[in-house]
Amino acid sequence: MLDPDIDVPLERIYVPPSIQELKRSRKDRHGGGDMDTTLRAEPDVSCYRELLHRDGNPVNTIYIQGDPGCGKTTFSTKLVLDWCKAHSKNGASTLETFTRTATSTCKTSNPTYFSDLDTLREYKFLFFVSLRDYSGTMCNVSQMVEDAIKSIKLPWDDSVWEHKCIVLTDAADEWYHPEIAFPPPRDSACNCHKYRSMPQYLQRNNISNIITARPWKLANLIMSDTLTRLFEISGVTNYKTLAENVITVLAEKDGISKNDQQCKCIDFIEIIKAQSLGNLITVPAVCVQLVHQFYVGRLVEGSRCSVYMNMLDMHIAKGLQKLHIENFDTEEMCVNEIKQIIGTESTEYLRDNRSLVHSASALAFKTLTDTSKESSLVFAENTITNHMTKTKLYYLLQTGIITKKKSLALSSRKNVPYMFLHKTIQEFLASLYIAMNQPDIENILNTIQSVYCDYKSILDIGQLFIFTCGMCAPAAERLSKHITDVITCDLESKLTSNSKLNTFLSLYTTREAQNIIVDGFIEGLAHNQSCLQLTISHIYFCIDFNLNYEKFEYALNTLIDMNISNIISMAAEFLYSFQQESPHRLQEIISQSRETLGYLRLRLKIPCKLDLQGLKLKYLSCSGNADISNLDCTFMRACDISYLNCTFMRATRLSEDRILQSMSVTGKNIRRLELTVSTSMDLLCAALQNLTSLHTLKLHFNRLAGTQLYHLPESIRKVVYRFTKVSAQDVKSMVEWSKSRDARVCCELFKCFLIDNEMDVCHWMKQQDGIDITYFEIEQFSYYGQIYFSWSTILSK
Ligand SMILES: [Zn+2]
Repeated sequence: MLDPDIDVPLERIYVPPSIQELKRSRKDRHGGGDMDTTLRAEPDVSCYRELLHRDGNPVNTIYIQGDPGCGKTTFSTKLVLDWCKAHSKNGASTLETFTRTATSTCKTSNPTYFSDLDTLREYKFLFFVSLRDYSGTMCNVSQMVEDAIKSIKLPWDDSVWEHKCIVLTDAADEWYHPEIAFPPPRDSACNCHKYRSMPQYLQRNNISNIITARPWKLANLIMSDTLTRLFEISGVTNYKTLAENVITVLAEKDGISKNDQQCKCIDFIEIIKAQSLGNLITVPAVCVQLVHQFYVGRLVEGSRCSVYMNMLDMHIAKGLQKLHIENFDTEEMCVNEIKQIIGTESTEYLRDNRSLVHSASALAFKTLTDTSKESSLVFAENTITNHMTKTKLYYLLQTGIITKKKSLALSSRKNVPYMFLHKTIQEFLASLYIAMNQPDIENILNTIQSVYCDYKSILDIGQLFIFTCGMCAPAAERLSKHITDVITCDLESKLTSNSKLNTFLSLYTTREAQNIIVDGFIEGLAHNQSCLQLTISHIYFCIDFNLNYEKFEYALNTLIDMNISNIISMAAEFLYSFQQESPHRLQEIISQSRETLGYLRLRLKIPCKLDLQGLKLKYLSCSGNADISNLDCTFMRACDISYLNCTFMRATRLSEDRILQSMSVTGKNIRRLELTVSTSMDLLCAALQNLTSLHTLKLHFNRLAGTQLYHLPESIRKVVYRFTKVSAQDVKSMVEWSKSRDARVCCELFKCFLIDNEMDVCHWMKQQDGIDITYFEIEQFSYYGQIYFSWSTILSK
């Protein structure tokens, strides 16, 4: 265990692992039996019998793979303890006792997990070998066992191998074959084949070999389907229980009452949720670490940076402990910035090994800003040695900050790919690099901006940005400007390319970009960077009950105040009565950002009176209870108005009429218009004929009237009706109209209801010349036929 404070009997904190069997699929068509093709076949394994047997027969070799920190060694240790228990004098009754205590302490996990001590009792001997201890010195496991027994001065007798045994070997990925020429010299104990990636195991029916390793070690192993089984540990069955157990152990040591212990558990889970550390906590080693940081007050609220600093600190400590050395750094670093950045006294290992940390962070930055995304997370050894010596790489591997991934290419030893323990650690280190290299900030920012340059990649920068807010204000401020600019550019290009601006504004990117900037600001606050001048120009107001909303709302409002005359796009969803105050805020922003606000999207259930005086909107989407006045459409390219008049929303029809009136006067630039209105037909027609750039018109629930179409401007290229009642005559006149145009026009009737004889329309449509029917379907739907027709005209001229 990393931490002496949590050095208690394993059972006190133990939570059963989530173990599943991986079934290797048949070799794929290209002949490779790669691990990527393995299928997760079974549910969680829940007892030792399932692990050690197949169809009632013992299995010779059992591989258990798992990523760093997922609990392989812990599971091995528990297996040893359980075997001891099964063979102790009170063994017979322990099963019962254990089950009973487990029921009372582990509320949420299944108490019967791996409690079948009877299975273990069948094995007369169990040998537990840490393969790392024999790396480079021994290659035969039975020899290792013999050596270990003799080293503690116990008599050895080869006859033990006649009995039923478990040979448990841990961390095969940390074992390498000794350097012995092939074929080995005569006097050598080695009788390995040329394939030396694994030690030699005894292959006997009475011996079960259990081997744990990281996935890359087993990736290209040739495994027999009948004699071996492959499992994967993917964490624990319940991380909350693990967290609770650790808290209980720490709290009991300090004599804290049961009640306070429970409060601490709740607080911990809350903080994890609030700080979005959920993805990390599923790695048991990291979970235990976060709990401890929380318990000793090192899990500073709101500060993701300090979580990661502490994490790195503990990894470095672990590496030093493993190699029995005091310090990794041999050279004196001139980088003093790191002292200021890291600051706190609790991260002494990080400070004392800053040369190593600096090299790791340079590597993290260079790989994350690599123009080819394939090599940004997984990279070859020569990429690493560009930034550090082989010794440093070795040290980093020992700390676990960098790990080896399974080999992607067959037998290319030189090219074993490496990766950081977790992507977030890589991002943290990259951010640390930015903070440590402030004189070079121009180049650094240029590099980032050229790699993360469009809306597809910009969100990928989020974590890096948030860390940077905690460590380097000037860089963070410029990065926020960059994120904002990318979103602005994207809106602009969507507006001119006629793509679905509506979905863009309403959904993912804008909102995520806002949340990233707000999270960054919160991170800055946690590091006393209260005057972090971040740029935010795209606002998305809505209630997200999953977030720690109070803190979020405070940060968002502070940021809006900072940028209140530079808001470019704003989306608002006011759906709850407790948001009554929100419309005032909306109006305030609208008035202040008169010069810049170009995109406005409103979804309102509560009444909202908005004066748009002076705005140069390029896009407006509005639905619900909005009472809009002073709309100027001079710069408008796209507009979507719906349901303003729905009775349940009690909006005034006046608002709708006012919008159409201003369109008819100023709407010459509108190219795309979507309407769900119930205004008078005359007003609609009057407005439409003035929209002299109109390209696409979509009408929902409106009556289709042939006459209405003749009011459309010359520029029209696409007309869509949805959810509209139509007669056969309406369809015919729409076709006639489309054929009368001088330009090619697309028409669509989508989910419209045909109120009379559909067969008649079918025949008629099919006889028409001059149109190309692109879709034609009638579904009988209660009284009406629901029709989906689309066609475009063929120009004969
Ligand atoms: Zn050998």
